[in-house]
Amino acid sequence: MFDWHVHTHHSCDSQASMAAMARAAHAAGLAGVAFTDHVEWMPGDEATGILKSPAYFAELDELRARYNGEMQLLAGVEVGDSHRFPAETREIVSAWPWDYILGSIHWVDGQPGWEPEMFESGVAVAYARYFDELIALAQGGEYDVLAHFDLVRRDSWAVCRQVLPVEPYAEAIREALRAVVARGKGLEINTSAWSAGLDEPCPGLTILRWYRELGGEVLVFGSDAHRPERVGADFDRARDLALVVGFTRLARFERRRIVGWDALE
Ligand SMILES: [Zn+2]
Ligand SMILES: [Zn+2]
Repeated sequence: MFDWHVHTHHSCDSQASMAAMARAAHAAGLAGVAFTDHVEWMPGDEATGILKSPAYFAELDELRARYNGEMQLLAGVEVGDSHRFPAETREIVSAWPWDYILGSIHWVDGQPGWEPEMFESGVAVAYARYFDELIALAQGGEYDVLAHFDLVRRDSWAVCRQVLPVEPYAEAIREALRAVVARGKGLEINTSAWSAGLDEPCPGLTILRWYRELGGEVLVFGSDAHRPERVGADFDRARDLALVVGFTRLARFERRRIVGWDALE
């Protein structure tokens, strides 16, 4: 099993070296890990301009040589709002040999999704705005897998101690899911929501069922770890959930293509 969502000190919000995260993945019995450091474009985001690809790849190449194939270390990146910054995204994506691109919505129509102002007009309004933004990313953004599909749940919990059911947003959610399936892209089960205190990961059972019903097949697990001790966290719970929904395998990426599948059981 791989952890497809791990941050390092190449992100503004992590201090961990790639070596520390790789060691943790190895200790957790994982077969591989994708370093998915932040790339953001919004002025005002702390991550904007932080990732330096030459330094990232220099550290990764050295670590790959050290592990010598014992564990797979993948070059990933978590790109925020790529649908709003297509030229900038294309530039970084084409310039470096990425294995895997996570697509995220961290900003909603110019507002930081994790700040109280996002919820000023009410939690329900924030959810609607978030999913509208997600449709645009799903349809027109640059990604292999959408990260934390319903991140607004984690944010509304963190900011307002409220989590709403997703059913009222079914139309928008299904529209985003249809785009993911039509483009041959995938979803992750982001397990960080569990440690944030939610009773489901991002996304949970309902959205995963809709994804499956619409023909969704491409699935990975991501811890969204920013510290070594979180690498691979709650993957046993993610596996149980995926099996309940009817998934039997997880996708494996290399150079932005699916190169294999790992059986879930
Ligand atoms: Zn994210
Ligand atoms: Zn992340």
